Order: sequence, then C-alpha cells, then structure tokens
Amino acid sequence: MQVHYKTFGCKANQYDTERMRQALEAAGRGVRSSGLEDADLCVVNTCTVTNQADAGARRFIRRAARRNPEAKILVAGCSAVLRAGQYRGMPEVDAVVEGHDPAAVLAESARVLAPTLPQLGTRRSLGRGHIESVAAAVLRRRAGATRGWLKVQDGCDRKCAFCATRLARGASRSRNPDEVVAEALTLARSHPELVITGVHIGHYGRDLTPRSTLTALVRRLLDAVPGPRFRLGSIEATEIDDGLLDLLSGSDGRLAPHLHMPLQSGADPVLRGMRRWHTREQYRRRALEIAARVRPIGLGADIIAGFPGETPADHASTVSLVRELPFSYLHVFPYSPRDQTAATELPGRVPERISRERARELRELADEKGRHYARKQGGHEVEVVMEGTGGTALTGDYLRVAVAADRPPNPAVLHRGRLSRDGSRVSISGEAPTWR
Ligand code: SF4
Repeated sequence: MQVHYKTFGCKANQYDTERMRQALEAAGRGVRSSGLEDADLCVVNTCTVTNQADAGARRFIRRAARRNPEAKILVAGCSAVLRAGQYRGMPEVDAVVEGHDPAAVLAESARVLAPTLPQLGTRRSLGRGHIESVAAAVLRRRAGATRGWLKVQDGCDRKCAFCATRLARGASRSRNPDEVVAEALTLARSHPELVITGVHIGHYGRDLTPRSTLTALVRRLLDAVPGPRFRLGSIEATEIDDGLLDLLSGSDGRLAPHLHMPLQSGADPVLRGMRRWHTREQYRRRALEIAARVRPIGLGADIIAGFPGETPADHASTVSLVRELPFSYLHVFPYSPRDQTAATELPGRVPERISRERARELRELADEKGRHYARKQGGHEVEVVMEGTGGTALTGDYLRVAVAADRPPNPAVLHRGRLSRDGSRVSISGEAPTWR
C-alpha cells in the first residue's frame, strides 16, 4: 500500500502530517509513495489561513483525482474542520477527517481501503486500543528532512480578527513536558536541529497543572536532550520573557539566536481593528530590547498589508517601524478576506491593487534589510544545518546560505564554516562539535 501526503500551510500542519504518516506506517497501512501516480491513498492535510488556501486544496484534490483516478482521497486538517460539508460534497473525496487526529485518519483510511486491503495482505486488527496507542506515540522523525518539528502545543486563546486558524484548532492546549522531552530525545536521533512549534507557543504551559512556561520547557529541553540545536518557531514579541532571552544569548548557540515575532501592522488603529492585544510601541520597545540583549539575532516578522481601514498614513507608520527595527527578513502578505472571520465585517476595504502595492513596498524594504544584515554577518564563523539536497544551509540566526564544500556534507549533523563577505555563502570547514 502506498500513500501520498500533501500538506498545506504551517509547521504545525507539517508536524501533524508526519504524525498521520507515522500512524499509518505503524499500523501496516502503507509506506510513502514515490509520487502521486503510484499512490493507493492520497492524504491531503489542508490549511484555512485564507480563502485562497482553501481553494488551493480543492484545486489539488481535483488535479490528484485526474492524475490518479484509482487512488482514494482522504481530506484532513484545518480547512476540513471549517468546510467539512464542501469536501464531503466533492465527488473526488472518499473520506473527511475534521482535524488532525492520526487515529481518525487511520480509522478512515481503513474504512475507505477496506475492500482492497485483504488482497494486499496488509490488513491488521484495528482494535480501539491499538488505534489509541498509535495516536499517542511520539513522532519519531520528520521523513526526508534535516530539521525536525517538535510541536509543543496546539490551538490559540487570542481572537485576532483575520485568523481562521484559531477557529479550526480551538483553545490552547499544551503537551505534557515529559512527552515533549521524550519526543525530542527520539527526534534528536534523526535531526541535528529541532524547531519548537505550535499554533501559539508563547502560551505554552498556561493550561497545565502545575502551570508552566515556554521558558521552563526550553530550559528542560536544553538540559535533557543532548545533541541537537533547538530553534523557536513563531512567537509573539510580548510573550518573550527575560529568561528566554538569557537562553537565547547564553546557550552558546544551542538555542538558535532567531526569533520570528508576528507584527501584522505598525499602526495602532489597524492593530486595534485586527484585535491584536499589543500596541506599536509595546512591540517596538520589546524588539529593540531583544536586539540589544541578544547579538547577533535574526529577527523576522509577519505583516499584513491593506487590512480593512488601513490608511496611507497607517501604511507609512508600518514602513517607518520596519525601517527602524533590525529585521533580517519579513513575511508580507496582502490582506485577503477569510470568511467566518470578524475582519470580513469591517468597513474600509482596501482595493486589492493597493494592498499588493503596499506589500511590494514592504517586501523590497525587507530584502534590503536582509542583505544589510547578511553583510554585517559576513566573514563570521557559523554553525549550519543542511537543507535537503538543494545545496543550501541555515545558520542559527536564520540566514539561508549557499554551501561550498569539497564533498557533500553529512546532512545528519551540524557543520561549522565561515560566511562569505556578503553573507550569502558558507565554506564548510568541518562538523560542529556536538553539545553534551
Ligand atoms: S495569535 Fe492571533 S493570528 Fe495567531 S493563532 Fe492566535 S488568533 Fe490566530
């Protein structure tokens, strides 16, 4: 039995796909196919961050059914939660799992594949206990990747007006720290870098008894899991405490000096419309404090251009904040309405052409700042993790660099090297010593 996996969206979704893959493989339900054409089952893990993301999943499903009409198609993920009826109504779709539960994916795949499984001789008993043990198992590796995703929580308690993710994923739920450590120990056997991810990791531990924090979890991971470099996934600027900054600056690179802190807008009226809880000044002050305490640090942010009600003065305020703060890269998206979110009700829709123009201006500025940051790091010794087979690697502070080496570097370990003067290339000098 061969299974093709297609993932849309964020790292949390990619992690969830790996859990689904692991559950199917552990139950003898099949191995990853070399391509869509060879698959008996196609698992589509959807994203709902914009209407386009939903539309992209539907397009993929139709294309997949044309390219391989024999394969069964199972749809899961965030979009499947909010648009289950639409997917069930598609003639190409054989099963819908509303969410990311590997046990549900396993059960549904058994249902749709049941007629073919006995002939293939791969059917196993699917007792309830078996399903639960598969679902509870820690993720062992992220197939085909050097960087592993370590998901520590799911869901979000905030209510940003543009966000459908929280509707699909529900309230914030933290994983038990013992389970996180066990998973990290397992993933560390296959990945030289682990990215601590989730939907809202800054709220990690608030729902646990006893209550805990992300900082306590990271400290424990650094102590208990020898070997890999850790990196924080996206985290809100206002939720980064001083303890976390101490770990970023004092762990000798084991916690990568890189923060991705969503900004969304640099104008207070827009932030209020977005129902963000922080002001421009709160973000600005924290970003400057962080940059002063952790040197060097790769700083990134998400920005939405053309949110309803955004005036030219609001946009100019965002541009000036971006100019002032030491960002090394930005992810800029023109606003795109997502139904079922509060933002669609807001007045002051910005024409698409203007949103795109504002996004372009911000991206150009981000590119300029990125080149400036890379030049500043040029000539420095760095530790890099290889990325796939594409001949690129990532530094701790999140510079993506071309790799120059006498022979292909071992992707299973971190490498030491020196950056070129413009910071765009690394010359590998050897393997980095592993942390104890
Ligand atoms: S913080 Fe806002 S944007 Fe982020 S997941 Fe929560 S509601 Fe969505």
